[in-house]
Amino acid sequence: MMLKNFFIGLSQNQLLNTLAQKYGLKLGAQSVVAGTNIEEMIQSVKELNVHGIACTIDNLGEFVSEKEAALEAKNQILEVIEAINGNNVDAHISLKPTQLGLDIDYDFCLNNLREIVDKASKYDIFINFDMEDYGHLQPSFELIDQLSADYDNIGTVIQSYFYRAVDDIKKYKDYRLRIVKGAYKEPEDVAYQDKKEIDDNFIKLIEYHLLHGKFTSIATHDHNIINHVKKFVKTHNISKDKFEFQMLYGFRKDMQFELAKEGYNFCTYVPFGTDWYGYFMRRLAERPQNVNLITRQVFNKKTNTVLGVAAGAFILGRLSKRKK
Ligand SMILES: Cc1cc2nc3c(=O)[nH]c(=O)nc-3n(C[C@H](O)[C@H](O)[C@H](O)COP(=O)(O)OP(=O)(O)OC[C@H]3O[C@@H](n4cnc5c(N)ncnc54)[C@H](O)[C@@H]3O)c2cc1C
Repeated sequence: MMLKNFFIGLSQNQLLNTLAQKYGLKLGAQSVVAGTNIEEMIQSVKELNVHGIACTIDNLGEFVSEKEAALEAKNQILEVIEAINGNNVDAHISLKPTQLGLDIDYDFCLNNLREIVDKASKYDIFINFDMEDYGHLQPSFELIDQLSADYDNIGTVIQSYFYRAVDDIKKYKDYRLRIVKGAYKEPEDVAYQDKKEIDDNFIKLIEYHLLHGKFTSIATHDHNIINHVKKFVKTHNISKDKFEFQMLYGFRKDMQFELAKEGYNFCTYVPFGTDWYGYFMRRLAERPQNVNLITRQVFNKKTNTVLGVAAGAFILGRLSKRKK
């Protein structure tokens, strides 16, 4: 738990985020981030498509506080849509409302999203709204509600650690939904803290959407959940075109290929870009073993000191908070 909090703390550190953007993919991030530009990302997508794996592409970035940065992100996503269409790859988009200006102004964000969803709809490309922390949950649903009045190429994410997820999944059952456990640190008045309770709710939500919903994306690296779903769909005669499994780029690669080979729809979440830091730190928070990704790099290349800087800054940050 301490390590989890440590990496969640690091994920929110602005100074380190800026440094990370400046110095490119470091700390082993290159094994879980598909390059820093569109060409590299499209190459990775093509390599996955060859194995029958579809992709959902995330132009990395979040919690943007300046309009210029949000507009730049919007333009980059529009370029990604062009690249998906131009290269005829099997891929769609995942995006985060805070990257498009949700923290700046709701209507500004809505307009940015409308432009993206509109362009994607012309190419029949699906847009998934990733779900972020609890503070952004309700406004994100409201953005989706407003845009769905005009577009049907939108879906979102249900996070099983939230108590309210059980109501949200009913309300949004006619959407294509990705179901996940949840990646942010949330307080106990809104979210389960206990792993078993989160897992139990995860299964409950998946089963509900498989039985009553539109298309279900089961996004997890947890083999116990995957095995449970395999049995559940068999018992309930749920056809393979009603759901897919999703995992993050670079994680459990063997299992990703294996599931695709077994004939399940499979979609890899492919993050790319320079703003990789927050995403990468959340992956370390989820699974301390992922620190192996770092240590392999740090000890192979003695020059990589960013982790040391990160840890130092985090500890200093904690000390200065305590003083106040
Ligand atoms: C495609 C995708 C999209 C996501 N989108 C969102 C989002 O929009 N919002 C959000 O809040 N979160 C999102 N997440 C993150 C998610 O909420 C979880 O934080 C994350 O997936 C970790 O939970 P888990 O279900 O993978 O398994 P965990 O609970 O982390 O692990 C369960 C068990 O699975 C096994 N395991 C897990 N990972 C590995 C591994 N790499 N190698 C070997 N064994 C392993 C271990 O036995 C582990 O104990 C997304 C995740 C995925 C895969």
